[in-house]
Amino acid sequence: MNLLEGAKYIIKKLKDNGYEAYIVGGYVRDYLLGIKSTDIDIATNAHPDVVASLFPKTILTGIKHGTVTVVFDKKQYEVTTFRADGDYLDKRRPDQVTYVSDLMTDVLRRDFTMNALALTIDEQIIDYVGGINDIRKKIIRTVGNPYERFNEDALRMLRVFRFVSQLGFAVEEETLKALKTHRALIKYISKERIIMEITKLVLGKYFHDAIILMVETKFYESIDFLSQGLDLILSTKYQPNDLTDFLTFLSVIGNYETIMNLPIANVIKKAITDVYQMYSLEINEFSNPLLFRQGLSACLLTNKLNHYLRNLPDKQEELKKQYEQLPIKRICDLAYKGSDLIIRYPERKGPWIGDMLDEICLKILLGELKNDYHEIERYVEEKVKLT
Ligand code: ATP
Ligand code: MG
Repeated sequence: MNLLEGAKYIIKKLKDNGYEAYIVGGYVRDYLLGIKSTDIDIATNAHPDVVASLFPKTILTGIKHGTVTVVFDKKQYEVTTFRADGDYLDKRRPDQVTYVSDLMTDVLRRDFTMNALALTIDEQIIDYVGGINDIRKKIIRTVGNPYERFNEDALRMLRVFRFVSQLGFAVEEETLKALKTHRALIKYISKERIIMEITKLVLGKYFHDAIILMVETKFYESIDFLSQGLDLILSTKYQPNDLTDFLTFLSVIGNYETIMNLPIANVIKKAITDVYQMYSLEINEFSNPLLFRQGLSACLLTNKLNHYLRNLPDKQEELKKQYEQLPIKRICDLAYKGSDLIIRYPERKGPWIGDMLDEICLKILLGELKNDYHEIERYVEEKVKLT
């Protein structure tokens, strides 16, 4: 069963129990654009506890906002009860929601006309806000007065750039004016929500269009970690592969401290820091031991930054080949293992084992020792004799 068929099953079940339900949000927009979606949101007038009781497998993580995740055929569907957003405090999404009984009210709380469509089980589109026409004209337009909508939730402004990057659409005139007027309100939005949108923005096919618009509207000035460097992205035509890549670029051109203060996973911070250090040390020779220690992606990213920012030749292909040909890629690739050392030399403990393994790896990576059980065993015996 495909994603859409699964959604239809869920909608049918709700309807059989006397409720209304529709596919809403990004799926309907992408359906009209012929873009393949990876997830489906469903809106219904059934209350969350009813939704939870109708399906055997549900997850209640979004229950505060009226969302129940229904797991069906190994796929997840977010089923959200029709709602009207309550009072907006601090220009952020409200914490409290009010359930309503009609689709219309639910549609009017949504951000853009292209995101405010509903799809019935018979694949008929319900359009209360002119969304179909705007999609046809490739226009991003807020539902209702853009000044009010951005004032209610300033994240919507960043979502404009995110959708420009993904879809290459233009921004409707009033929406654009409101964005310029209200741009500073983005400071009320949590960095977590900002990062979520930026993660999608950097992957967009029209990334540079979104960056051009950010510079033109001066929107970037209100987000600390974007306040420097976008001009360099444009002049060098730098295209990030993902969030880590983008944040690393911004780090090496002067935003490192700011980026380390962002609420991003520690593995991402470490990946950024590794490349930041290699770049700062102006490393442009990638020896086998360096490639082994830092990993391929960090070396590729250092090379990419060297290429774009220092005009050095691009070594991407050589690096990939060199990595493929490494005699070992990880410590566990060693033919003679730490456990072999422990069994053979039970009296030697602690750092000796780790140091010896590092030394063996280095010798192998430099081509001075073969990754062969007996050769390594012989090498270790010689070393032990000498100490
Ligand atoms: P994607 O394909 O990237 O998931 P999406 O349009 O589905 O894009 P989501 O962030 O998943 O975007 O949001 C789902 C829907 O919820 C949107 O299409 C929109 O109708 C509504 N929405 C999301 N964020 C907001 C917001 N800040 N204000 C108003 N409506 C919003
Ligand atoms: Mg979505």
